[in-house]
Amino acid sequence: MAAEPVDVLVIGGGITGAGIARDAALRGFRTAVVDKGDLGGGTSSLSSRLIHGGIRYLEQGELRLVFEASHERRVLLGIAPHLVHPLPFLFPVYRGARIPAWKLRAGMWLYDLLAAFHNVKWHRWLGRKATQRLEPGLRDKELKGAALYYDAQTDDARLVIATMRSAAQAGALVANYAEATALLKPDGRVGGATMRDRLTGQASTIRALVVVNAAGPWVDRVRSLDDTGADPLLRPTKGVHVAVPRKRIGHTHALTLTSPIDGRVMFVLPWDDLSYIGTTDSDDDASPDEVRATADDVVYLLRSANAFFPHARLSPADVVASWAGLRPLLRPPRDVTASAASREHRVVESPSGLLTIAGGKLTTYRVMARDGVDRVPAPPRELDGAMDRGASDRTARHLVARYGSESAAVLNLVDRDRALGRPIVAGRPALWAEVAHAVEREMAVRLSDVLVRRLHLFYATSDQGVPAASPVAEWLAEPLGWDAPRRAEEVTGYRELVERSRAFAKEAATVGES
Ligand SMILES: Cc1cc2nc3c(=O)[nH]c(=O)nc-3n(C[C@H](O)[C@H](O)[C@H](O)COP(=O)(O)OP(=O)(O)OC[C@H]3O[C@@H](n4cnc5c(N)ncnc54)[C@H](O)[C@@H]3O)c2cc1C
Repeated sequence: MAAEPVDVLVIGGGITGAGIARDAALRGFRTAVVDKGDLGGGTSSLSSRLIHGGIRYLEQGELRLVFEASHERRVLLGIAPHLVHPLPFLFPVYRGARIPAWKLRAGMWLYDLLAAFHNVKWHRWLGRKATQRLEPGLRDKELKGAALYYDAQTDDARLVIATMRSAAQAGALVANYAEATALLKPDGRVGGATMRDRLTGQASTIRALVVVNAAGPWVDRVRSLDDTGADPLLRPTKGVHVAVPRKRIGHTHALTLTSPIDGRVMFVLPWDDLSYIGTTDSDDDASPDEVRATADDVVYLLRSANAFFPHARLSPADVVASWAGLRPLLRPPRDVTASAASREHRVVESPSGLLTIAGGKLTTYRVMARDGVDRVPAPPRELDGAMDRGASDRTARHLVARYGSESAAVLNLVDRDRALGRPIVAGRPALWAEVAHAVEREMAVRLSDVLVRRLHLFYATSDQGVPAASPVAEWLAEPLGWDAPRRAEEVTGYRELVERSRAFAKEAATVGES
């Protein structure tokens, strides 16, 4: 990465950065992506591991987001079937619950309709008995029934790794434990970053046409490397999960529940022989490097789960693992609660050209990547062979005009064989080295390939290169394995080609005579 400049440097190797790196590399940008820790070590490995339409967002009226997420769910089920699996959910309804049955029914229809044939399966409405049959451990007091609907579950960290590997296969350069510590601004525009290798402490610089800040909950910190007074884009919220032995709860489906403590929608999700319960959603000022589950968070989750599965009697001693992450949510207008903050994303360009992508979620990472890379201007890409023209003598000008940066390669052939430095036709600049170049590197296989299209003697000389036909055919005989008859055939063929091209002259003469 430090060796030569890239088109796009992505700071952040979570799902957003991985998606951007893959998209950019596939579009042909020279791409580098760095993470200060492990790939996916930020929020992207601390999620609820759902690839979901976002049933919760219906309550906030975010229909566009649900539509977009449902579409992405369908795509990801298709492109990563080993990592994204359909998952049936039960959403039980109790008498007096915050979300009444009629509202849930309407929501389920809307959820499926917004998926517009992208849904995993259509939802079904279950009565009390059918619900109890499916999940006997559920509290039956006041139970009215349940919605059975479908979303998908993933392994979030593996999804990042798979996307990163795909980016690397498309040509992206990937570095972990490489932290961007400062931005290079040679002319006031952001043109790369200073890096610190977190394992060795070594510093280096990466030059880039465009730097994309995809640092998740750290995006405002990276923005402050560009401008210490930059307005924060995020209002992150903390989300905690706990994992407990599945047999303690005894469920088979994923469950969507409204916490009896504060009415928030939460999940109990199966994961092999564990269940994980999540999530909390609270404003948090903690640094993304230090966020952790508190005893209050854990008690909230366990009490909420116990309220629906009374036999579980979960206590903090049952917790096998916990994880806490910061959602990199866009800073909302005032008066919006943490849970109601939007999951939309935004791409923001700073006055010095730093592109920041903020907000979003795991499910919509491909859309974020597309929107981010759409803002990267296409670099002026030279065609192979382009180079500065600076040669002074006639041969050099001739070669540069035809071969550009490959002129040097043509001249290198002369180093191999001095005879190749001689002109083919005395007084003209074309060299024997060009014949060798045409065969060895430009796939010429016929005499006409060389004289017509590679060397242009056919067009550029009044004799149309006929005097050169025999000597060039003789030279070509060795690399192309021609025997004497074949050589003669090529020369005759070339002469006929020239004659055919001159036939008009005879016709014109006849027309003139008559
Ligand atoms: C509790 C919780 C549950 C969630 N559940 C879901 C869910 O079920 N489904 C869903 O779709 N979404 C979910 N989300 C949202 C989703 O997880 C995030 O939106 C997504 O993972 C963010 O990815 P990211 O790549 O933008 O950020 P991150 O994954 O945090 O990646 C940013 C990376 O930038 C790196 N970085 C930071 N600073 C620098 C620097 N200076 N130099 C180099 N690297 C740097 C960090 O090390 C980090 O790895 C959840 C989020 C939370 C918190």
